[in-house]
Amino acid sequence: MGKTVIILSDDEVALVRESSLLVGRTLAEVARHIAPGVTTGRLDAIAEEFIRDHGAVPGFKGLYGCPSTLLISVDEQVVHGLPGDRALREGNVASVDCGVLMNGFYGDSAYTFCVGEVAPATRKLLQVTQECLALGIAAAVDNNRTGDIGFAIQQHAESNGYGVVRELVGHGVGRKLHEAPEVPNYGKRGHGVRLHSGMALAIEPMINMGTKEVKQLSDGWTVVSRDGKPSAHFEHTVVVRAGKAEVLSTFQYIEDVLAKNAVGSTPVSTIVK
Ligand code: MG
Ligand code: MG
Repeated sequence: MGKTVIILSDDEVALVRESSLLVGRTLAEVARHIAPGVTTGRLDAIAEEFIRDHGAVPGFKGLYGCPSTLLISVDEQVVHGLPGDRALREGNVASVDCGVLMNGFYGDSAYTFCVGEVAPATRKLLQVTQECLALGIAAAVDNNRTGDIGFAIQQHAESNGYGVVRELVGHGVGRKLHEAPEVPNYGKRGHGVRLHSGMALAIEPMINMGTKEVKQLSDGWTVVSRDGKPSAHFEHTVVVRAGKAEVLSTFQYIEDVLAKNAVGSTPVSTIVK
């Protein structure tokens, strides 16, 4: 991660938006195929082909030695799960994180899917994590600070009794996947890096049903909750503006697929709180 905060021109923001929308379409392609029995490796292959067919390259593959296009984290896995032979099962939740690089700029977004019927308590965790993301985005406005984003996310998660992961954070997005500043999902109002119009940020709450504590598995990638309870992760790439951030990525393509797909996954937004 660079140290200098980058302000993007409107033309550059448009390129981050294009990359971010392609991530949304890729995650919708994943949504078409996610169901009990599918392997995480199969989803990864589908995503890679889709991205390359659209003239872009996977944003994660090869970065820091990452072997895959997607990072798929099931149940107690928080983030950075590596796709492979694991078949998804009814009742799993799977966070699917995806980045693309196109025209020199990255987009980054993640969505946690329900595989078939999922326990109500877990569905509530997904719903609250999406609400945390929305609250974080609402705080990503000109002249606020990164701590305002973190505070909004932390407050909502903890008021629901959940743990906020500290070890992994959101980040700036631009010509590199990870730019300054870091965007923690916890914090104090009025603290942290000052936000300015034109800063592109990936805001990505990682919220645990139980303890906030995590550990990394021996594969050197997968991060899991220490108590084995489920974790959720939703991420948008946004650009800071005065008054209201613009969301550059979208879940709309995903939710259009899920709304039609009664057998596989169901949209988080249909959850009754
Ligand atoms: Mg991501
Ligand atoms: Mg990210």
